[in-house]
Amino acid sequence: METKKKNIAILGSTGSIGTQALDVIRANSDIFAVEVLTGNENADLLIKQAIEFNPNAVVIAEESKYLYVKEALKAFDIKVFAGNKAIVEVVTMDSIDMVLAAIVGYAGLESTISAIKAEKQIALANKETLVVAGDLVTALAKEKGVNLYPVDSEHSAIFQCLAGEFQNPIEKIYLTASGGPFRGKDKNFLATIKKEQALKHPNWEMGAKITIDSASLMNKGLEVIEAKWLFGLKPEQIEVIVHPQSIVHSIVQFIDGSMKAQMGLPDMKLPIQYALGYPQRIKSDFPRFNFMNYPQLTFEQADTKTFRNLALAFEAMNKGGNSPCILNAANEIAVEAFLKDKIGFLEMSDIVEHCLQTVSFINKPSYADYVETDTETRRVAFNQLSNLTIKQ
Ligand code: NAD
Ligand code: MG
Repeated sequence: METKKKNIAILGSTGSIGTQALDVIRANSDIFAVEVLTGNENADLLIKQAIEFNPNAVVIAEESKYLYVKEALKAFDIKVFAGNKAIVEVVTMDSIDMVLAAIVGYAGLESTISAIKAEKQIALANKETLVVAGDLVTALAKEKGVNLYPVDSEHSAIFQCLAGEFQNPIEKIYLTASGGPFRGKDKNFLATIKKEQALKHPNWEMGAKITIDSASLMNKGLEVIEAKWLFGLKPEQIEVIVHPQSIVHSIVQFIDGSMKAQMGLPDMKLPIQYALGYPQRIKSDFPRFNFMNYPQLTFEQADTKTFRNLALAFEAMNKGGNSPCILNAANEIAVEAFLKDKIGFLEMSDIVEHCLQTVSFINKPSYADYVETDTETRRVAFNQLSNLTIKQ
């Protein structure tokens, strides 16, 4: 008997996670079908994906590309929409079973909330959603009976360690970090870095924003906050440990002192596939780990004095309220400016710190407060950016 395929909507299908998710679906077309694809402005790739996977609908966020996509797909039975509002609406379609939230940044928040409201299961790559509004998003998911399956490799590792242990209290978790391309460097070195160097990650190939975040350790900071919400932890239960080989993807320590780790070669297809297929493990031909190639797995403390972003993220998490939302918005502006060669590597932390000190604190923010905080922080960050660029 043929079982019903799981219908997946991929938000951000043209990105690093999106394209790897399509690789997983291509290899398992007996289990998964693509219902929706969305992209920002890469119309040609979105069209190519649509022709291959024959979804019910595609959305191009960039509205000026609507006619181009519509024309290219006119011979196919595929609905074409444009604009961010259309992404928010399309995720509510009855035929969707699961939404892979793989848009980068704050831009992914509204569509993820919309999908949860429509009671879709969520495979969550967009960590910024939980950083910005983790309290609202997790409460909504609970209310709607929706599971948030982590795609981030560290959080997938924790989730895999927790399988069969959901009733057992966690004592603490260790989130592993590769340390990025500048591990062991000092501030003098960091001051000279150009984007080309920061865009080369030693172990993972990812989108530009998360690659810069990984080099600055902001990615680990965002992940700490993401873990707090996903696993209902107190800040003091989360520790970051640098593990340059990226083989141990994270560790759970239970109340009896026992620790469970999930290991494997660094390949995002594995956590993507686990989230899409949960609770089933699907046979794969991903390369297997060989101990002889890794005679030493090493661990060290993170250098939060040099990489201030990680300390700032812990501060924002401890303060709570809208602080992580401020941290995120300021960082998005800072990373964009760094990628445009407008500011140096260390100045990214300056902008984040300035915004955390300047933007008004709100203890129990509503959704509207988060939207307002994001807008206000971007304004403050832009101002600070022009101060910095004038000084140069
Ligand atoms: P990416 O830049 O490669 O892809 C982003 C996707 O979002 C693209 O499809 C793009 O078209 C779309 N997008 C961007 N801005 C948009 C907007 N304003 N409106 C609508 N769509 C928009 O990024 P990525 O590396 O795939 O990362 C996606 C998310 O997954 C991020 O939140 C990242 O932190 C998280 N993540 C990525 C990895 C990885 O290995 N790449 C690992 C863990 C977590
Ligand atoms: Mg990660």
